[in-house]
Order: sequence, then structure tokens, then C-alpha cells
Amino acid sequence: MVTETISSIISSVILLITFENVGKLAVFLLVLAIVVNILALLIGFYSLRKKRILFPKFVLFTLYLFYSPLHYIFKTFSIREKLVDEILVEIQNAVHLNKFKKADERKIILIPHCMRNRKCKARCDPLYGYYCKKCGLCNIGEIIEEAEKRDFKVFILPGGSFIKKIFKEYKPTSCIEVACPIELSEAMTIGSKIPVQGVYLKNDGCFETVADINEIIEKMEIKEREKKEKK
Ligand code: SF4
Repeated sequence: MVTETISSIISSVILLITFENVGKLAVFLLVLAIVVNILALLIGFYSLRKKRILFPKFVLFTLYLFYSPLHYIFKTFSIREKLVDEILVEIQNAVHLNKFKKADERKIILIPHCMRNRKCKARCDPLYGYYCKKCGLCNIGEIIEEAEKRDFKVFILPGGSFIKKIFKEYKPTSCIEVACPIELSEAMTIGSKIPVQGVYLKNDGCFETVADINEIIEKMEIKEREKKEKK
């Protein structure tokens, strides 16, 4: 009887110590996560503002890992949620830039279907998305013409799942993705096996959105522009 009581006291003490340690570890990990996230956000914000990218792998890893909690916290405290995505996109752009400039063939531009006009008559292919008729009702036709001059192929995506299909079937070597910051930060991870550059839509809303065609041309001509600037 005495032995049983002693052994039950010992197990209770061990359990208490274990719980206490687990509790301490949990608090330590939470504080660590908060500090690491604040650091990543500060570095990312500095990089965004100064156009000088610091510790890109650390910032990308941390912000993608804690992406959902960060969005939740930003939303709760009414901070601009898109900031996390803007940091991610700008850092991805910088990380991929050199390889993007070197890619010479099978270059593509991915356009979201929300840029189409409501009266768009384009046919949708189950593999490659919409085939634009260049009717002039939205600026996708113009983007396609500018892209053709520069050897880029344009795909109009009916949804995010088409990115994988197009990558599998067309096998591009570089890519310009056009989307809103939230879509873009996610889409750029799908395309991260090849050099990718992101361009934001000028307006949100998922309906008759607009992209700045000059910004897309700038991305297409990035290599040529740099050569001219060096001369
Ligand atoms: S330009 Fe192309 S994508 Fe735009 S509305 Fe006309 S057919 Fe549709």
C-alpha cells in the first residue's frame, strides 16, 4: 500500500515536471516565432522600400511558413494585409531576376481571366485556357500583340490550377505572372522552379481588372534595357 502511494506521488511529480517543461517550451517557441516574424517583416519592409534585398531566403521562408497567421494578425489589427504579399512578390522578383534575364526561349506571360471584358467571346481550352480574339474590348489583345513582338506566349488563365497544366504541357523556361498581390504571392511559388517575375493588377475585385501594359513591356524588355543602360 505504502509502495503504491509513493509510486503514484513520484509519477505525479514527473508528470508535473514534464507538463511544466512542455509549457515552457511552448512559450519559448511562441516568443521565438514572434521575434523571427517581426524580424522577417522588418527586413522585408526595408527591402521593399529601399529596393535593396536583404536575407531573401530567410524572409521568404519565414513569411511563407507563417503566411496564414500573419494575414490573420494583420486583419485583426487593421494593418494592410497585402503588405505581406507585396514583400513576398518583390523579394521573389529580385531573387529570380538574373535567371529571368538569361532565359531566351519558351517565355510566357500568364494573365488572369478577370481581365477579360464581360462581353468577351473567347473560347476556353481545357488545357491552355482562353483563346483571345483580340476584339479590343479589354487590353489583353494589346498585351498579346506586344508579347508576340518580343517572343513571349500569352496564356489567359481561367483559374490557378491551369498554371500547373501549362507548365507541364508547354514547359516554359521563364514566366511573367500578372495578378493581384495575394494571388501573385501564391502563384509565384508554383512557378518558382523557373525564373518568374510578378506584375500587379492595377485594381482588385476579380472583375474587369486592368494591368499596366507598360509595366509588362518593361518586364519583357528587362534584359535589353539593362544592356542599353550599360552602354
Ligand atoms: S480582347 Fe480578347 S480577352 Fe479581351 S474581351 Fe476581347 S476576346 Fe476577350
